[in-house]
Amino acid sequence: MMDVSVTTLLHVLMLYSCSTTATTAQSSSVTNKRLHRSYSDDHIIRSDMTAMDQIMEANEFRAAQVPEVTSFRDGDIAVTTGGRSKACFARSCLWSKSVDGHVYIAYMVSSDYSDLDQRIIKTGMDEIESGTCVRFVPRTHQRDYLDIQPQSGCWSYLGQRGGRQTLSLQSPDCMWSGVTSHQLMHALGFVHEQSRVDRDKHVTVLWENILKDQVKNFEKFKTNNLDTPYDHGSIMHFGMYAYSEDGDPTIVPKRNKAVKMGQRSSLSALDKMKINKLYKCEIHEDY
Ligand SMILES: [Zn+2]
Repeated sequence: MMDVSVTTLLHVLMLYSCSTTATTAQSSSVTNKRLHRSYSDDHIIRSDMTAMDQIMEANEFRAAQVPEVTSFRDGDIAVTTGGRSKACFARSCLWSKSVDGHVYIAYMVSSDYSDLDQRIIKTGMDEIESGTCVRFVPRTHQRDYLDIQPQSGCWSYLGQRGGRQTLSLQSPDCMWSGVTSHQLMHALGFVHEQSRVDRDKHVTVLWENILKDQVKNFEKFKTNNLDTPYDHGSIMHFGMYAYSEDGDPTIVPKRNKAVKMGQRSSLSALDKMKINKLYKCEIHEDY
């Protein structure tokens, strides 16, 4: 029953995406100025950018140019209509756990990356491994694995799809360890924090400030919150100016207005806790 409703939701969203194309084209003369300026230029101090801000900037003009992917959810989660894709929204498609208690995720990294790029990707993996039971291992024979490539933009599929699955980190735009960690968390099965079903208790979405054709990126999902509190500081949280029409905030904290949303390079403590809860990892001091 869950699968049917999720599939229907995806279908509806894809139809919605198609129907907004014409609107975008019609209004292009009005929005011309915005289309030619960068996501962050007018309202975000570059040194304050979070991993998600960087992803939005990298994907701003490129996300539609990826042939493998049918569409993107929330700006950077790849969705295809192929029969192989599992409906992972609202429930997770998990990687399997080893008898030794670790979750080993095999990966390949494209030889097109420079040594520096590869070090940045490795740092993003290390950040996930630290304090969790997840371990990234270079692929030898594993059937299921991440194929990390510098395709167009920064994006990942949600959860494990089975077989080879692309995780794109374009160079240099996506070459932040925090961006790598963010995409790896999508691959582990996590959606964006402000997609949580209970988010309206914790943040206010300022719908009138959102670019009209990007409103769909602020949907809520029936997420499994793993009994964890809402985490404004998650590396999976949108920034305050995500998809802003004119530089005004689009999502703000409800209570403490000073709380900073998102992360630049690290997972929050709650991000790590959520990984361990989702994968039912025992907490050992040697993680
Ligand atoms: Zn994301």
